[in-house]
Amino acid sequence: MNTQESERLFARAQELIPGGVNSPVRAFRGVGGTPRFIERGAGAFIWDADGNQYTDYVLSWGPLVLGHAPEVVLKAIAETAAKGTSYGAPTALENQLAEQVVGMVPSIEQIRFVNSGTEACMSALRLARAVTGREKIVKFSGCYHGHADMLLVQAGSGVATLGLPDSPGVPKATAASTLTLSYNDLEGAKSLFAELGTEIAAVIVEPIAANMGFVPPADGYLQGLHDLCKQHGALFILDEVMTGFRVSPGGAQAYWGLDPDITCLGKVIGGGLPVGAYAGKKAIMQQVAPAGTMYQAGTLSGNPLAMAAGIATLTELQKPGVFDEIVQNTHLLTQGIAHAAAQAGIPLQAGTIGTMFGFYFLKEDGVQVTDYATAKQYVDAPRYATFFHKMLERGVYLAPSAFEAGFVSAAHTPEIIQSTLDAIQESMREL
Ligand code: PMP
Repeated sequence: MNTQESERLFARAQELIPGGVNSPVRAFRGVGGTPRFIERGAGAFIWDADGNQYTDYVLSWGPLVLGHAPEVVLKAIAETAAKGTSYGAPTALENQLAEQVVGMVPSIEQIRFVNSGTEACMSALRLARAVTGREKIVKFSGCYHGHADMLLVQAGSGVATLGLPDSPGVPKATAASTLTLSYNDLEGAKSLFAELGTEIAAVIVEPIAANMGFVPPADGYLQGLHDLCKQHGALFILDEVMTGFRVSPGGAQAYWGLDPDITCLGKVIGGGLPVGAYAGKKAIMQQVAPAGTMYQAGTLSGNPLAMAAGIATLTELQKPGVFDEIVQNTHLLTQGIAHAAAQAGIPLQAGTIGTMFGFYFLKEDGVQVTDYATAKQYVDAPRYATFFHKMLERGVYLAPSAFEAGFVSAAHTPEIIQSTLDAIQESMREL
């Protein structure tokens, strides 16, 4: 595979941009080699600067639930852009996207749009602290909620991939108010609340821990966390930046019947443009300025192009059959991965819920990843790196890290999935 042009661009990028990228995992540090510089995308495929074609299972890390450059989204963006790109004043488009989200996600009564998942989580925590008058927050190791200071404590995603310590630059005092627990350990949460329950403003959790790979919640775990919050007067924040409109059209909360106080959204809600949101019960959201006193603002928040892309994406996703078909194809893929590994005698843990999937190459048979400690202990990251490059050579673009989830879109047909499975079988046989 010729990658000369990507190599040239990456060399130049490293002189201009730290590490050559604007978000760490893109640099391929988790798998080695030269990151592909992408020139265009269409449907399930992307093409790099050397003209190589790949079937894409990263999909901009989740947002592109309809695939690359879907006509409905492009049309909505173009029509909106023709009228101007930003006003810094309210638009009907914001009402429209808000109506859609309120209609789709059960717990949400009001919503505030921001520009990224990071902003959504950061603002949700400020709100929880404002509402409760408490300072401590609880997160889970290996979960990632963006790069706000108080959330860069035992974080997942790139922090996990690069094996970094908690980031320098985060004030000790800020980190000290973040309490960290092990994901899927309800007993641990109970003892923490028994000790410090009156000081805890909120628990923030990814319903599926998908920034350390793909770790589903144990039965009753998430509801158990919410019950603890209720008992102790803390708020339950569900970070659905990744799972929103992916685990089900109503997110993980609709799938598991949860009723969080605050929900964080991002990715799909912007249809590939920069959007995030925090949302929830009206009584809580009314604390946000100017309705209330908790301050949060944004020059480009509710940007018309981003709203239009989000509206078009959610509208398409709600058409009969669209979501279910993606789910079926995601299952097809995940079953095929598990089957290929079994045939090749390779220990593997695969999972899927909705339109998300993930798999781990395990160091041994019979072990299971349920949290960050077991992910670090059992996952064979070097084997993933080898597999990743074999797949890349065969024209399949997977996440460049053993600790990230994968995504399927409406453009991934059963035929496309099957050709990926052929590549998977060949690559696994060679491992
Ligand atoms: N929360 C979760 C669950 C995420 O997966 C991410 C990003 N992958 C974020 C928050 C941060 O979102 P953003 O990268 O848009 O700031």
